[in-house]
Amino acid sequence: MQPPKADMGPFEAVNHFFHHAAEITRISDSAIDVLSGTYRELQVQVPVRHDDGRMEVVYGYRVQHNGARGPYKGGIRYHAEADLDEVRALASLMTWKTALVDLPFGGAKGGVQIDPSHMSPAELERLTRRYTGQISSVLGPTRDIPAPDMNTDAQTMSWILDEYGRKYGHTNQIVTGKPIALGGSQGREEATGRGAVVTGDAALRDLGRDVEGATLAIQGFGNVGSWAARLARDRGYRVVAVSDVHGAIHADQGLDIGEVRAHLAETGSVVDCPGSEPISNDELLGLDVDVLMPAALGGVITDENAGDIRADVIVEGANHPVTPLADAELTERGIVVVPDILANAGGVIVSYFEWVQNNQELHWSHDDVVGRLEHKLDQAYRTVRDFQDRHEGINLRQAAFALAVDRVVEAASLRGYL
Ligand code: GLU
Repeated sequence: MQPPKADMGPFEAVNHFFHHAAEITRISDSAIDVLSGTYRELQVQVPVRHDDGRMEVVYGYRVQHNGARGPYKGGIRYHAEADLDEVRALASLMTWKTALVDLPFGGAKGGVQIDPSHMSPAELERLTRRYTGQISSVLGPTRDIPAPDMNTDAQTMSWILDEYGRKYGHTNQIVTGKPIALGGSQGREEATGRGAVVTGDAALRDLGRDVEGATLAIQGFGNVGSWAARLARDRGYRVVAVSDVHGAIHADQGLDIGEVRAHLAETGSVVDCPGSEPISNDELLGLDVDVLMPAALGGVITDENAGDIRADVIVEGANHPVTPLADAELTERGIVVVPDILANAGGVIVSYFEWVQNNQELHWSHDDVVGRLEHKLDQAYRTVRDFQDRHEGINLRQAAFALAVDRVVEAASLRGYL
């Protein structure tokens, strides 16, 4: 295995972790060839009509990384940085994530390379319908099932469901993360944040630490960060800092999360929330807290700032927030990193529950969903820790990737293509 470099692209970085797992699990060269590439990559041109009549041409992607364990599964994001390499990286992470938490899915991801922050609901609807139309030939309830990701939500899923239905007939299992009124699941919206908090708890307890009164800093206050903040507060954490694209805020005695949400709803940002002081994004990452949760973009903890991290535990609410070089340095310093494919798997786990409920035309209660989610994550966390204990000198990420790779290779071999 090559040593990590500072300038790895996102897909190369995820594949770095994959290659290490391939060494631990001793999979064949042909398995490495198959799994370090992607099965299918669709790039589509998406012309978007703006409200003022202007036409903008952007590019969208749907990458299917591997489907050995079941239909392709993964979210769709709208982001200026969602280029083909980023979407490949995210698709491959979905393969490892679904395998690690033992869901009968493969991995895929979609992205449209656009900054949606100034788009109206009508523009977003036109964009979503056009993009769905362009990629619908590779989707299907037993083929590839999208879900929300960065800057997409239950409303986006409703438009996808509707657009897909116009062509192929109503199919409510075609997307997950839908509104309840269209067959969505209880507990889906908060599932990723809940999973991050649950797995962070498990890591803290493993260090012999109490959750009650533990300090937490969260980078990002979107779906994952804001739900994690609320749920962590309810479990007894002191949430001392949060941030968004405009800046970060800090309060030593703990932020009033209800007030931060109200301030965000009113002003469009968490910055200047009463009872907080402004800090920089770098200061947030370097706070002396028990738990640091990056819950925004990838590649935010690098070899340049890993030395400043003072948290004991990092919980990766975001996908690939820690680069391979930083990961090595944090491990060296004894900082526990709960990897993305475990820490943010709560979303896809409840997506799976939603798909199962849709297939059976059933509705589970909120308590039922939460109970099943927590059970699945506890099980996955324990399996990863046990694997780590049995293999000297590996961190949680290496254990998680090795378990996932092993499962995917087994399924692919049984199907006869490895
Ligand atoms: N976008 C989420 C993720 O990165 C959820 C994917 C899904 O539910 O399919 O895990």
